[in-house]
Amino acid sequence: MLYVVPTPIGNLQDITLRALEVLKTADAVLCEDTRRTQILLSHFGISKPTYRYNENDERSVARCLEALQSGKTCALVSDCGTPCISDPGWKLVRQAVEAGIKVSSLPGPSAVACALAGAGITGGAFTFLGFLPRKAGKAAKLIAAAYALHHPVVIYESPYRVVKMLQLIAATLGADTPVVLARELSKVYEQWLRGTAAELAAELGKKNKVQGEFVMIIDRPAAPEREEENETDPYF
Ligand code: SAM
Repeated sequence: MLYVVPTPIGNLQDITLRALEVLKTADAVLCEDTRRTQILLSHFGISKPTYRYNENDERSVARCLEALQSGKTCALVSDCGTPCISDPGWKLVRQAVEAGIKVSSLPGPSAVACALAGAGITGGAFTFLGFLPRKAGKAAKLIAAAYALHHPVVIYESPYRVVKMLQLIAATLGADTPVVLARELSKVYEQWLRGTAAELAAELGKKNKVQGEFVMIIDRPAAPEREEENETDPYF
């Protein structure tokens, strides 16, 4: 049996009771980084064998699959949030499904859902792009294509590239494109920045160093256009 287990994205109190129960009762925990996962497990007083999986290393995936095929109950975790969401894990899940192993996915923390829920943007559809390609041209094409679907677009971005990405959004979609930045969600310095792409690029561009983890939400422009679009949205 394979359980997909989300873990906190910054605040250890965000682990669910069920996640703890699965981690306590599983035979082994499959993780991205054994040291990071051991810290999490020891915080909750759980002592468990951990196996590292690396999707680029067939042998590590095969070893995890062997453990499952031998009848072990395994919990799959990533370094933070929900495994397989801009994180490794999906190959193992797919191989487990193909091998006839039962898979159960637990609900829990994920930065994309947390950011959208606090953004106050839409209760309906959105397009999640995860991490964008490093090449500006490719990233711009993806952003434009996703935005053309008329839904908010959600991006994961590193602090080192957040200003460049805001500039790219301004250049691709227009300087006035509304953006919400959710920074350090669930942590002590959680912060929400709202403005146009150009305003936020200028604001963050003034800092010597931008720090923290970001979810970036590219909103639709307000008013009439939006009302028309929302006619098909059952949540409005
Ligand atoms: N699997 C995770 C999930 O379910 O959200 C995502 C892991 S991905 C490797 C890490 C990215 O998620 C970060 O670069 C950032 O964009 C976003 N992220 C994770 N934790 C966050 C937090 N506390 N605040 C804001 N963004 C966060």
